This record gives sequence, structure tokens and C-alpha cells, in this order.
Amino acid sequence: MPSEKDFNNHVRSGISLAPMTTFGIGGSAGYFAELDSKEILEGLFKWSRKENVPVFAIGGGSNIVVADEGIEALVLKLSSNGSFGKIDFTVEDDKHIAVVGPAVPSAVLLRRTAEAGFSGLEFFAGIPGTVGGAVACDAGGRFGRISSALVGYEGFPYAFGKQDKGAYWLDKTRDAEDFLITEVVLKIEPAETAVVNTRIQEILDYRRKTQPEGVKSAGCIFQNPPDGPSAGELIDKAGLKGKRRGGAEVSTVHANYIINSSGATAFDVIGLALDIIEVVQEKTGVKLALKVDIWGESLEELISRRGYF
Ligand SMILES: Cc1cc2nc3c(=O)[nH]c(=O)nc-3n(C[C@H](O)[C@H](O)[C@H](O)COP(=O)(O)OP(=O)(O)OC[C@H]3O[C@@H](n4cnc5c(N)ncnc54)[C@H](O)[C@@H]3O)c2cc1C
Repeated sequence: MPSEKDFNNHVRSGISLAPMTTFGIGGSAGYFAELDSKEILEGLFKWSRKENVPVFAIGGGSNIVVADEGIEALVLKLSSNGSFGKIDFTVEDDKHIAVVGPAVPSAVLLRRTAEAGFSGLEFFAGIPGTVGGAVACDAGGRFGRISSALVGYEGFPYAFGKQDKGAYWLDKTRDAEDFLITEVVLKIEPAETAVVNTRIQEILDYRRKTQPEGVKSAGCIFQNPPDGPSAGELIDKAGLKGKRRGGAEVSTVHANYIINSSGATAFDVIGLALDIIEVVQEKTGVKLALKVDIWGESLEELISRRGYF
């Protein structure tokens, strides 16, 4: 258990999560702590078990929609100061690896990897957020995914029980959703910095041409179906570009983006996403699935009331 001083130093109540998300939407966390040590993390897990308060992790907030009324949970943000922000390039069993703290922004890891003369993480180009969030969401797309570079990771089980002593080392087959990630190991390959930078630039150019810039969003809101046209193509074909609900709007640049164009609520965003699912299913027979994570009971209720989940 954390000492009372540690607890009071780290845990705050009623902190708004909206500024910590790229949508800029959402209410407050019942409890919120930013921390830079595994000892304090372990203490907070023990506290949450004793008090029966669920634990959530937030990274860059670029793949979540937080309910307007907030969440009754302990939301933990790992600070990039200390070990949660480290980047080490090393060799293990004759293979080059990067040992990375979960709080490192993916863009920073990509730049440092290229500068150090390694390739293998170029798929990160243009993806916001942190390395911990990227593992939890298996970030990537047409240029590759983090799961192909992942060797393994270390994490605290969210269901932290009396028998648990601290973090576990886990191979890549374990479900990252069950753990709060505290360290990540990624495969990398020696490469010329100039070659890696050219590839990064190509990916960024592609993204600039096809995706909206400077807007509040969580990137693509739906997963692409396993085969056939992409979610964006289906939404476009259904004539939904520019469709609005409150302050939320389907991007006219990329139909798989919902943007917070003018003071949208979480209800606007998820309501619009559900409208899209219904129309696309009606017109094409394909049922789209949300890609973003949903935080909060009211949103879960809204989704199940409209027949999803
Ligand atoms: C403009 C834009 C473009 C995007 N493009 C892409 C893209 O091309 N491909 C893609 O996959 N995604 C994309 N995204 C979505 C998002 O950026 C990625 O999924 C990103 O990797 C999420 O990281 P994050 O740190 O922001 O996670 P958050 O949004 O903070 O969290 C997402 C999930 O990860 C969990 N999480 C966060 N940190 C940890 C941790 N340390 N341990 C355990 N769980 C954790 C959270 O609990 C939550 O469930 C885009 C988003 C935007 C805004």
C-alpha cells in the first residue's frame, strides 16, 4: 500500500480527462495519478484492490472516447520522467532490440531509432500517442503494425490480486488488454538513417494527402473489415461524408474520421458513429466495428441500447 504521503502526493480527484485526449472530450476521473515509479504503481494497485476501484491507463489519449460524465475509476498516467520514459538500444541473442518505456511518445521513439541507425518502426510515422498505448491498441495500418515488431512487454495485471507481487514479463502472445504496460521490447534492424528517414517522409506524405490535419479526432473511428472495401470507402459510398450530429462531423477528407468540429460531446461522437453503422449496414450489408476504446457507462449503455456491443 502507498504511504498516506505517497497517496496524497500522487492521487487527485476530479481531474478533467478532456485535455488529455486528442478529441478534447470527456468528463473527470474519480481518481487520477501521474507517476514515474513502479513502487508507487504497485502501491496504487494494492489500494485499488482494497477499495474496489477499477484501474485505467491513459497514454496520449489518441484512441479513446471518454464519457461526458467521466468515469469512477483510478486513471493512471505514466510519466516520461524516469524509467517509463527510457529508450535503450541493445543486442540480445545476436538480435538488435529497443527496450522502451511505455510513456515514450511513438513519434519520439521513431525519430530516435532512425537517428541511432535502425529501421523496423517506420509504421509509427504520423501515429500520435505513446508506445504503451500503441501496444495496447496494436497500432499500425497499411505500413505495418507494432505486433510484428513486438518481442514482449512487462505489465501489472489489471486484476491485481493478493498473490501478485509486481510486474510480470510477458511474451507477445499474452493479451495486452489485461495488463498495464510498464516496459516494451521491440525488434529493430540496422539501417542507414537517410534511408529510414526517406521512408518516414514517404509515409507522412501519404498521410498528409489522405487524412485530415489539425483537427480534433481519434484517427479512424472504425476498424477496417477483414476483406473487401475499407471502412472509409464504405462510409463514403453510403454518402455520409460531412454528416453531423451536434458538434461531431464525418470528415470530408477521410470518411473514417469523426472530428470534433465545434464543441462536440462524447454522446455526439458515439451517436454519430452508431448512425454510420446503421446506414452502412443498410446500404452495403457490412456491419462496422468501433476501433476506439469507450470509457464510461453512459456510452456503453447508449451503444447497447442501439443494439451493439
Ligand atoms: C490523427 C490520428 C491518426 C491516427 N492514426 C492511427 C493509425 O494510423 N493507426 C492506428 O493504429 N492508430 C491511429 N490512431 C489512433 C492512436 O493514435 C493509436 O491507437 C495510438 O497508438 C494510441 O496510443 P495512446 O498512447 O494515445 O493511447 P490512449 O488513447 O491513451 O489509450 C488507448 C488504449 O490503450 C490503453 N493504454 C494506454 N497506455 C497504456 C499502458 N501503459 N498500458 C496498458 N494500456 C495502455 C488505454 O487504457 C486505452 O485502452 C490515430 C489517432 C489520431 C488522433
